[in-house]
Amino acid sequence: MSDKPICKSRRDAVKVMLGTAAAIPVINLVGVGTARAQAPANAVAADDPTAVALKYHADATQSDRVAAARPGLPPEEQHCANCQFMLPDAAGATDEWKGCQLFPGKLINVNGWCASWTLRAG
Ligand code: SF4
Repeated sequence: MSDKPICKSRRDAVKVMLGTAAAIPVINLVGVGTARAQAPANAVAADDPTAVALKYHADATQSDRVAAARPGLPPEEQHCANCQFMLPDAAGATDEWKGCQLFPGKLINVNGWCASWTLRAG
């Protein structure tokens, strides 16, 4: 009996193990990236009744801000970050997620927009 088939099989098995080991860090990096992009647990949900009523969208470019633009700035410059109602120091706020007076206890995206947008004074 020859050892060749067994050696080839071992070689293949080692290749598979090394390939799997090399892929694990890549999979972990993808997981971390996905987690960072996720909204916080108390982010305003798309189906939140107030969000629906105010046409809030976490991405202003996907909102109705052109059709329902508010006075103060051109529509493409209107977003939560320059709105009078944004609460930058709300509990749980981050660089990307802030509070809003119209959504108590929840977080809105600084790049979002809703039909109550009002240019921040000053
Ligand atoms: S009121 Fe202002 S800060 Fe709040 S969701 Fe609407 S645009 Fe954003």
